[in-house]
Amino acid sequence: MATMTEAVAGRKTAAPTMKAFVMKRLGEVGFMEKPVPSDPGPTGAIVKTTRALVCTSDTHTVAGAIGERKDLTLGHEAVGIVYKLGREVKGVKEGDRVAVNAITPCYQCENCLRGFPSQCTQMLGGWKFANIKDGVFAEYFHVNDAEANLALIPDKVSDEAAVYTCDMMSTGFAGAENAAIPIGGSVAIFAQGPVGLMATVGARLLGAGLIIAVESVPKRRELALRFGADVVIDFSHTDPVQAILALTQGQGVDSAIESLGSQATFEACVKVTRPGGTVSNVGYHGHGDYLMIPRLEWGVGMGDKTIRTALCPGGKERMRRLLRLLENGRVDPTPLTTHRFRFDQLETAFRMMKTKEDGIIKPLILFD
Ligand SMILES: [Zn+2]
Ligand SMILES: [Zn+2]
Repeated sequence: MATMTEAVAGRKTAAPTMKAFVMKRLGEVGFMEKPVPSDPGPTGAIVKTTRALVCTSDTHTVAGAIGERKDLTLGHEAVGIVYKLGREVKGVKEGDRVAVNAITPCYQCENCLRGFPSQCTQMLGGWKFANIKDGVFAEYFHVNDAEANLALIPDKVSDEAAVYTCDMMSTGFAGAENAAIPIGGSVAIFAQGPVGLMATVGARLLGAGLIIAVESVPKRRELALRFGADVVIDFSHTDPVQAILALTQGQGVDSAIESLGSQATFEACVKVTRPGGTVSNVGYHGHGDYLMIPRLEWGVGMGDKTIRTALCPGGKERMRRLLRLLENGRVDPTPLTTHRFRFDQLETAFRMMKTKEDGIIKPLILFD
């Protein structure tokens, strides 16, 4: 039996716990108690979460796209307040409001130094949250290499807007940047989910002359027009390849962006891109072993068509630029928020993101 003194000491040393929303095993999610992370390490930080977004890629993870995980905290899109800082971290202080990209590279390894930080150490290695370490669906989360990865949120920018920089804006804009759209050029964007819609915004910011979006869901079609598409093709009524060729006098577009992650949309991108054009893939191809390239429309391998891929660019400089677009009113991503939930309702948000019921685009998770 413990003495009084031991019992008191035991209470004193018991680590505080927090609620975390985890992948318990393949196909199973739920809440569990975890210790509040207490040691940021010399170069890390601990952030108190204020707002988060659920991502379709979280549902791919639970379905097994990257293999088995046990009690791994999910989520990679969040903003918050710096709670504890490693002693070597400069440029931020405890109490600052910060955004952290979904991708948190080390900026020291060979792939980072070669200019491909999303592929930190190994392919897709910049993706650490809810992959190789606990994610952000918790009251607190740990950030590696904090000096490179924490971006201060300007006073004028709300948490709800800032949280879109973590993945949706960075990934969607990367889709447009990699598409090499000439000023006044034509671009086709396949699927207008949250990433595709941000690719539409990116294409407009980069000066596309004709933006053709492909989407069937009414709410997403409406947002596509609002965010800058000139034409939206409903693939459930019209063959998008034929329609895009007709809109471009049979020539095809300069650039095509794949923002779904399916064989059908990927191959349509190759088919609608004119010689010399670029296919930019940001869709997450979550299953299957191979993607097929249509041989003839690829110029039997000699059509001068470029296929580029990217994983959400991270790091504080990227984040600062995205936040600047919000600060100066160039972009307002908040119409993507179709639903709001308290943190303790995350299971419902997660289920809806998987089924896409009730016209959901992005569910915002409130931590306070
Ligand atoms: Zn995401
Ligand atoms: Zn690295």
